[in-house]
Amino acid sequence: STLVVAIDGPSGSGKSSVSREVARRLGLAYLDTGAMYRAATWWCLHEGVPLDDQPAVARAVRALPLDQGVDPAAPHVRVGTTDVDEAIRETAISAAVSAVATNLDVRDELRERQRAAIAAQADASSFSAGRGIVAEGRDITTVVAPDADVRILLTASEEARLARRARDVHGSDDDDAVAATRDQVLRRDADDSTVVQFHVAADGVVTVDSSDLDFEQTVQAVLAVVAR
Ligand code: C5P
Repeated sequence: STLVVAIDGPSGSGKSSVSREVARRLGLAYLDTGAMYRAATWWCLHEGVPLDDQPAVARAVRALPLDQGVDPAAPHVRVGTTDVDEAIRETAISAAVSAVATNLDVRDELRERQRAAIAAQADASSFSAGRGIVAEGRDITTVVAPDADVRILLTASEEARLARRARDVHGSDDDDAVAATRDQVLRRDADDSTVVQFHVAADGVVTVDSSDLDFEQTVQAVLAVVAR
């Protein structure tokens, strides 16, 4: 049978790196749904679609030629034949992604693709046949896979999240680096919160607070929830 692990959380909670490592250790597939919204945003900008033209953005995303790997040891994100792994992490995409992710037609389209990617793990021909998947994002525990076997909200204090983000983006968590990321992180979470709820655990969702945990301790805390 297939094990589905759903993990949500705000930016800077460490959920991408933790989810990927948990998937790797359990031999499961890994789906980064944030990368899908980022690739959709990259595609709209690449195609010259104005992000405030909601119907045009929705049309573009329905035609998004996304190729996303689910092997946690070698994830890749391509749009058509273009490798966008690095491009989708750039500041310009982070600044624009909420405009695309708050488009409800975009969410409908990507939600269906996410459900298909999760369902595909029950298919013996796909990666890690029949073992399952760790899917990570903002609305996986609540909307995409509310019936997942394990549902976790990975949180952290605002201070911890900003410091983590500053280290990721600037390689430092000194005051200047935190100040430089602060507005963007808080703005993105506030914008995202208008359409998805990821600050409070829904019924049946287990909260893991990583504020005072290092990477390995957070991985262990998530593995402990999966094991129980
Ligand atoms: O997780 P990450 O920071 O890469 O997500 C990028 C953006 O994708 C989020 O800020 C949010 O706008 C969107 N997103 C979403 N729903 C998800 C995953 C990501 O709206 N399940």
